[in-house]
Amino acid sequence: MSVLVVGGGLSGLSTAMFMALHGAPPLLVEKHPTTSVHPKARGQFPHVMEALRVAGVDERVLDASPKDGKFRIIRAVSLNGPVLQEILTESPDFTHLSQAPWADVSQERMEPILADRARELGADLRFSTELVSWRQHDNGVTAVLRNLDTGTEETVEVDYLVAADGHRSPIRQTLGIELVGRGVLGEGTGALFEADLQGQQQFLAYLLNPDLPGGAGVLVSTDVPGRYAVGVSNTVGDKDWKQIIRTATGIPDLEPKILDLPHGRSQTRHGVAERFTDGRVFLVGDAARMMPPTGAFGGNTAIMDGFSLAWKLAMVTRGEAGPGLLAGHDPERRPYSTILADQQYLLYTQRGRPDLADDPTLPAPVEPVSALFFGYRQLGGAIVAEPGDDLWENPERPTGRPGVRAPFVRLTDGSTTDRLGHGFVVLTGNPALKGLPIDVHVIEEPEFFAKYGITPEGATLVRPDFVIAWRSVGATTPEEVESAWRTVLDWPA
Ligand SMILES: Cc1cc2nc3c(=O)[nH]c(=O)nc-3n(C[C@H](O)[C@H](O)[C@H](O)COP(=O)(O)OP(=O)(O)OC[C@H]3O[C@@H](n4cnc5c(N)ncnc54)[C@H](O)[C@@H]3O)c2cc1C
Repeated sequence: MSVLVVGGGLSGLSTAMFMALHGAPPLLVEKHPTTSVHPKARGQFPHVMEALRVAGVDERVLDASPKDGKFRIIRAVSLNGPVLQEILTESPDFTHLSQAPWADVSQERMEPILADRARELGADLRFSTELVSWRQHDNGVTAVLRNLDTGTEETVEVDYLVAADGHRSPIRQTLGIELVGRGVLGEGTGALFEADLQGQQQFLAYLLNPDLPGGAGVLVSTDVPGRYAVGVSNTVGDKDWKQIIRTATGIPDLEPKILDLPHGRSQTRHGVAERFTDGRVFLVGDAARMMPPTGAFGGNTAIMDGFSLAWKLAMVTRGEAGPGLLAGHDPERRPYSTILADQQYLLYTQRGRPDLADDPTLPAPVEPVSALFFGYRQLGGAIVAEPGDDLWENPERPTGRPGVRAPFVRLTDGSTTDRLGHGFVVLTGNPALKGLPIDVHVIEEPEFFAKYGITPEGATLVRPDFVIAWRSVGATTPEEVESAWRTVLDWPA
């Protein structure tokens, strides 16, 4: 194996699955015996479903989603009211920006879907296996693994190490990489319970209630009917969970069945790793960034980290690209992470900490909201950049510049998105470009040229993760396309 992924959460499993999809199945180790037993992150955004479709698991995710379709987010004293604010009654309509739907699977169901697919594609996933120690050297990484069932230790040699080892990230700590941000905002603990909360659709309730420990909490439905999760501040002392649940639901005589699972413990923190790469080590998921859960980008971004990193690792370890391709991980993912963490912090103050709402250091909201999902523009990394230092664009008026997600255009036979995901592709109106050692798709629809900012003689080179790598607006030769492709791949001409 050329790559060791440490951590079997959303980021590690996604990295393993997409690496295997791109022909380089890695070794993944996870110290727990199974994937998460807690629902935790909930919901998949359309751009994440696009990525999951590339791996062939979008239908599995939809099948596992609750079927009532609506998800309500409120701020309230209790689930039964009074409601202080209806934050969301339906997910935003992005159907003109993506053909993928929203999905609503929680982490306990999502992780097995990713793990199963990673295995089907050839990844070696080992649970109850811990990374004990590691060191990187000029030629690779030497890692010691321990099977926690047998106590047996094994030393493996790999080319690269992916730190998908969660918010405490022992690998990040060993490297001395600090999280830069506002720091720890709170400690939480939670319980899962079953109860008959009649008439409730899928919901997430941010609670402000002086009778809850710390005066606040979260109550959320799960995708198992009749099962809910409650979370409160982890203030000292034993928790009377039955009373907490009664207060949170606003049903004083409720008889919840509290599930016999370890109570979830979490830290609410705002911070982004000061670098995402160190030599042969790459940070993904919570190891790379911590943000309050308000906004639900934590789990979604963990999956997209894998989508973004896996094709690069696969191409480099398969000898299809130079190692410089991997240097893109930090400049591509870190600025995006900083902005997402800031936006989730803003929502955190608005939904759960009104006492912080006047903080003059709060960021302005990114608008329109679709820009957070579809409008990020990476300025560096594996692209041939064009001038300008704006990190966002309005996806309603796409420019087609390198560094942005390839805009979605419906075509007479499918869409632009249908052509993406399995390798580099050229989208063009110019049939003369056929014959390149890259997939070339000739498109005739005028809307395509308008949204991609090229003429019918021009060309756009798109990466496997849907990011535009390069474009040529006017007449383009096959040699120009191939030269740009080699530049992006750090591949000598
Ligand atoms: C209670 C709770 C609710 C949340 N709700 C939401 C939400 O609604 N929306 C949202 O977007 N996000 C939410 N999150 C955040 C979301 O769960 C995380 O962003 C996401 O799980 C990050 O995935 P990850 O793979 O990076 O890390 P993790 O899921 O933490 O996985 C890291 C894994 O690494 C393993 N590991 C660590 N060290 C080693 C080692 N040495 N050897 C082997 N394995 C190791 C750990 O056992 C762990 O399984 C929530 C988190 C919590 C705790």
